[in-house]
Amino acid sequence: MAVTRTFSIIKPDATRRNLTGAVTKMLEEAGLRVVASKRIHMTREQAEGFYAVHKERPFFGELCEFMMSEPVVVQVLEGEDAVARNREVMGATNPADAAEGTIRKTHALSIGENTVHGSDSDENAAIEIAYFFKPEEIVG
Ligand code: GDP
Ligand code: MG
Repeated sequence: MAVTRTFSIIKPDATRRNLTGAVTKMLEEAGLRVVASKRIHMTREQAEGFYAVHKERPFFGELCEFMMSEPVVVQVLEGEDAVARNREVMGATNPADAAEGTIRKTHALSIGENTVHGSDSDENAAIEIAYFFKPEEIVG
């Protein structure tokens, strides 16, 4: 299996509770390497642009307000089959459905405040990485 990259966000519910290190540790223990990382406070434009794919969903407004509410940590993760590996350690969207030992089972507060974002395909990973990082900010 090839070494690939994915895009991750440590969401406001986690930065607020000082869980940046705890979440990153779980990512690293899952075999993912942090090859880029920065703490940002998303603007409305950034949040609405990033989640444009969800703009018809009923929770779109709530999701964007949440993502703009406090700082987040955006990261590029590298590893064997990184998208799938990250989705596995993240757990299901709703923490009530997430498997034991996953990030969302361990830390998420609700289906909305669910601690992490992770790309869902290699194609989206490339788009999402480019949305927040310049190539020279990624050091593999
Ligand atoms: P993900 O890929 O597992 O993050 O899930 P989705 O792509 O389906 O949804 C994107 C994000 O929207 C989720 O991570 C949640 O933060 C949020 N979200 C999804 N479903 C709901 C919902 O029913 N209510 C609320 N408030 N937020 C939701
Ligand atoms: Mg998604």
